[in-house]
Amino acid sequence: MVAKSSKKTGVVYLVGAGPGDPELLTVKGQRLIKEADVILFDKLANDEILMLAKKKTEKLYVGKKAGFHIVPQSEINRKLVELAKAGKKVVRLKGGDPFVLGRGGEECEYLKKHDVPFEIIPGISSILGVTAYAGIPLTHRDYADNFAVATGHQSVINETKKLSVPKADTLVYLMGVTNLPNILEALQAAGYKDTMPIALIERGTTKHQKVATGTIKNIQSKVKKEGIEPPALIIVGNVVKLRKKINWFI
Ligand code: SAH
Repeated sequence: MVAKSSKKTGVVYLVGAGPGDPELLTVKGQRLIKEADVILFDKLANDEILMLAKKKTEKLYVGKKAGFHIVPQSEINRKLVELAKAGKKVVRLKGGDPFVLGRGGEECEYLKKHDVPFEIIPGISSILGVTAYAGIPLTHRDYADNFAVATGHQSVINETKKLSVPKADTLVYLMGVTNLPNILEALQAAGYKDTMPIALIERGTTKHQKVATGTIKNIQSKVKKEGIEPPALIIVGNVVKLRKKINWFI
């Protein structure tokens, strides 16, 4: 018979790292990173946040490399359980907010199934942080009273699944840079005019922030000119025009 471990199960903290600027990390997230025994992290817009951890804290990269997950999600799930069962204080650090297009929900389901306690520490999603630093308000009395968020990646991973064009005044697409031509096509098919303003923001809130603004008709050449690459946010709507007046960061 194997002796039952006397170790108490640890806790997994799903921490939102915010969009990039390290000062946009929450106070609670910062404390947990400093206290962690081990941190599993994705590709972050800014590595400075990891430097907050103790030297002896184990730091495991489980994000993507060249578009592919170097560690499959099932393995990340198993690792989280294994580490927590060994009594560790585990931080699962995710860019932006853990519950926005980051598979945080799936990880929680798995932890629950295996009786591992967890907590969720929300983060400032790129949806809010990147638009704020780009000077593009998601709503504005004159232009938009609602906004919607969608993945711009869908049609790449599953060609039978159509890219969604939500009905909203402002649209925000995440993970859409490489799929930009399809997104533009989907917008036009949904009735968007060629003159509709659109912006792409790469690595927003960091000193590497790059922005391209234009219209559905000319944005592809602007993106090329500015050399915009992932990770970037795509914003579609008349609010994009406000950047001219509101732009305040770099
Ligand atoms: N959970 C994250 C989103 C994960 S999906 C959040 O709440 O922000 C990853 C996508 O988020 C990227 O492809 C990009 O579209 C967007 N993103 C994240 N950080 C960004 C940044 N600093 N600048 C621009 N886009 C960013």
